[in-house]
Amino acid sequence: MNIDVKSGIGVAPMVTEPPEIQSVGVVGAGQMGNGIAHVCALAGLPVTIVDIKPEALTKAMDIMARNMDRQVKRSLVTSDQRDEALALVTTSTDYAAFKDADFVIEAATEKEDLKRLVFKSLVPNLKPSCMVASNTSSISITRLGAVTDRPEKFIGMHFMNPVPVMKLVEIIRGIATDEPTFQAVKALAQRLGKVSAVAEDFPAFIVNRILVPMINEAVFALYEGVGSVSAIDDAMKLGANHPMGPLELADFIGLDTCLSIMQVLYEGLSDSKYRPCPLLVKYVEAGWYGRKTGRGFYDYTQTPPRPTR
Ligand code: NAD
Repeated sequence: MNIDVKSGIGVAPMVTEPPEIQSVGVVGAGQMGNGIAHVCALAGLPVTIVDIKPEALTKAMDIMARNMDRQVKRSLVTSDQRDEALALVTTSTDYAAFKDADFVIEAATEKEDLKRLVFKSLVPNLKPSCMVASNTSSISITRLGAVTDRPEKFIGMHFMNPVPVMKLVEIIRGIATDEPTFQAVKALAQRLGKVSAVAEDFPAFIVNRILVPMINEAVFALYEGVGSVSAIDDAMKLGANHPMGPLELADFIGLDTCLSIMQVLYEGLSDSKYRPCPLLVKYVEAGWYGRKTGRGFYDYTQTPPRPTR
């Protein structure tokens, strides 16, 4: 309670209601972008997805429809809910489509230069009250927010993959993020049926600070010949009770994303323990990004996927 200095009587503090998010924009129609759009639409929010590649938008709509069909088959959603949700999603290759959005979340490729360009060209298209988030796995929210015209309305909202299945969302405040933005994003996470964990703005936050160095270590084990792909994955599944082996998981996340996260950790914390494994670098240089390109530590043209080493 505050005290009125003249009367000495206690007055209730002014409470600012967090702005309610009623429409969402998503930048990037990759595996995370389509997952974020999926959960927002199922929560009844109109969603617009923007990607530079029209074919990525078509693919995202197909994947979303297929994933919702699967949820209908498992009786997790009704066919009416699926149809209503799909009708709420629109796509575009132009950021101008975000002009009425209350909240835009960026889920483009994990490269800081690229994300900076996205935010610079994105913000002139937004209404002044629009809040902006990045789904980055590792990059500083403070640095990304600083390239926008609204660092106080900028925040990290880090969904896990696959978005419709995974419960957690990490919420990361940049140095300038204000309380109403934080509260609005926390409320959004709850509306989407997620549990939020608050992380400070350090490289890779909580989950990837722990998870991705483990994956990198698994790649070192492969590189040094400690075990084959199957031996390493089986060992961690059966010996450490992990639901997926670390190399299988790396392919699922995307080896390009794993490498970018290791680079952010290595540079951001200036510690050699985060050195990306040369084999991970080589796979990314070869364009072997994992599941999304058909080859990584497994060959996904085979059924079941076959280990490549
Ligand atoms: P992805 O490669 O599947 O998709 C990236 C998409 O961004 C592509 O469709 C690409 O065309 C698009 N894109 C590139 N430049 C763009 C631009 N200038 N404007 C609009 N769209 C553009 O990647 P992803 O796995 O979906 O990852 C996206 C983000 O989510 C990254 O920041 C990543 O770190 C983060 N993330 C990934 C995971 C994961 O497991 N893959 C988990 C959590 C967070």
